[in-house]
Amino acid sequence: MTFQNRYLELVKELETHSPKVDVYYELSRLKDELELDGTDNDTLNNTYLSLKMYHSAYKLLGKTINKQDTSNMKTYTKIAGLNKNYGNLLSKYIETEEEIKNKNLRYQIPTFKYHPNPLRTGAFEILDESEVCPACTKETMVIYSSMPYCIENVEHICPGCIADGTAALKYKATFSQSAESNELIDKEKYSELFERTPGYISWQGENWLTCCDDYCAYLGTVGTEELEDMDIADEVIEAYERRNEYEDIRPYLTKDGHLCGYLFRCLKCHKYHLWVDAS
Ligand SMILES: [Zn+2]
Ligand SMILES: [Zn+2]
Repeated sequence: MTFQNRYLELVKELETHSPKVDVYYELSRLKDELELDGTDNDTLNNTYLSLKMYHSAYKLLGKTINKQDTSNMKTYTKIAGLNKNYGNLLSKYIETEEEIKNKNLRYQIPTFKYHPNPLRTGAFEILDESEVCPACTKETMVIYSSMPYCIENVEHICPGCIADGTAALKYKATFSQSAESNELIDKEKYSELFERTPGYISWQGENWLTCCDDYCAYLGTVGTEELEDMDIADEVIEAYERRNEYEDIRPYLTKDGHLCGYLFRCLKCHKYHLWVDAS
């Protein structure tokens, strides 16, 4: 079967409700083969797009595009935009903004600027049976997975009570342990992060990274493998190592492992930043 036919079959499978194969896994394999083979750039490009690897698609297209052809240029401009906004987002690691929005809507999770995908990161947990949120005393199917930083032990806080500050006020609580730098950041942003944003699960407690005078958005845990798939491993690991924290992390960094990466992205310049801690 040609590469193109294999691709088309996988895409068809992707559109059915219960695919017979792990389509993203098969697409990744197809991508590897296409890269090695190097003769079918059209299919390779489509495969990148299906895998949401916009950075790779943009790079490939930049090399192969015929700039006289207007329909080609339209595609190129569109992919340039996707690359700027998302880069490489292998769907198994990070979802697009649209998907995150839909999922949050489905579970009635408010928008957290600094923690856009709290279900994926495990900050919130979906329950089989409802619990009562201690802050608003209403039943909820989604709860905060950790306990906030406060004197009492408070469990089962609902997302709404974090978002509107009810829980922080009632328990004099914060949800994050620390941030890289609070000096440059104004009070309103400080209280949005510490009092109205769910913290993230980590070995040593949160350390929220900052960039462009604001806190970054926390995206989730990563290892070297995930960073390589996203095509940002060199850049973020080098920048991390300049911080003089853990050294020589590349061979050991594993998603949710004993040496774990926490990936952030600047809301303004869209640069990725890495924090690392260990068990
Ligand atoms: Zn509540
Ligand atoms: Zn920035």
